Amino acid sequence: MCQYCLNPNHKKPDWLVDDLGSAGVPYVNFEEFLPPPESSYGCLFSRDRIEKGYHVEEIDDGVYWVSSGWYDTMFVRTGNGIIAIDAPPALGENILAAMEDVCDEPVTHVVYSHWHADHIGAASIYGDNVKIIAHQKTKDLLTRFPDSYRPVPTETFESNEVLDVNGVKLQLSYKGQNHSEGNIFIFAPKQKVLAAIDIASPGWVTFRDCDSSENLSGYVDAHHQILQYDFKTLVSGHVSKLGDKNDVLENIEYLEDLMRFAREALETVDVEFFTKQLGDGAYKGAFRDAEENYFQALTNYGTKKMLEVVTSNGKRWAERLNGVQAMTKHNMFSMIEKTRLERTHNGYMLRGGKPSSPKFFV
Ligand SMILES: [Zn+2]
Ligand SMILES: [Zn+2]
Repeated sequence: MCQYCLNPNHKKPDWLVDDLGSAGVPYVNFEEFLPPPESSYGCLFSRDRIEKGYHVEEIDDGVYWVSSGWYDTMFVRTGNGIIAIDAPPALGENILAAMEDVCDEPVTHVVYSHWHADHIGAASIYGDNVKIIAHQKTKDLLTRFPDSYRPVPTETFESNEVLDVNGVKLQLSYKGQNHSEGNIFIFAPKQKVLAAIDIASPGWVTFRDCDSSENLSGYVDAHHQILQYDFKTLVSGHVSKLGDKNDVLENIEYLEDLMRFAREALETVDVEFFTKQLGDGAYKGAFRDAEENYFQALTNYGTKKMLEVVTSNGKRWAERLNGVQAMTKHNMFSMIEKTRLERTHNGYMLRGGKPSSPKFFV
């Protein structure tokens, strides 16, 4: 029996490495996790998604949402051609099928949210005769790291741009680095639909390491920037449901708890508890051991606080958002590291001070 999924028919495959001990990372078992909240399901179990591999629906007045269940995006009919946003490979040509389900207009314009391959890695499906609009940094990155599946943008902008196709308008805006450089906000003002990709995740906890965000301060800030829009519907790029303002506020509350407990961990966990075993002449490799255990202690301290905290509606995070028990340790580690790197250090070594301090924050 496979000890990782409890399926009696599974046998351990040759590639499965589970003998690294403390040099590796441990496996989990789904029975250790609470069932995910049903409020997070969205189109996950809808018949069309399961049968066709995608779900498409009109959000409002020509703005459509298409989802694979794990990746989603939107497109806009103009009456004289479609504006496509992104092209996640997980949807691939199913995006074209979804467009054909609802109209017979060709794609004339493509907007890239950001340069990541998991969101635009199928953009070549739109062919050579489309205008591709993106932030200048997205063009710079795709020029530096070429990929035939991600054609280089034909038009770029720096801060704000209005894309007007046949009178249908999209407001494009770049507010600084967040999840990645060049990641923009795409807003349909008439329909009040906002595409903000890889920022909020309605009904779910953010994916590992706060979705691998490059700048966690900018990533958290981007949630507040979403709330500055007069939007009704959020397309997030992931999960299986559309979002609204309450979803963003819920994600912000999770992130604020994450920031609060990351800082508390840094101020509480005593690095000397782990380093004092290193006496004079101790084998230098032991330093790695102390460092590893210090970071594990920081992460576990903050994760325990996150799992136990009673949130604003009286529930715990695992009862509110999908993925909390699996993802929080990864998000906590990232938040601790980025707190160290991006936020104030709260002091520095004083002249004549000792080489280590009882707490990370002096
Ligand atoms: Zn991304
Ligand atoms: Zn993503």
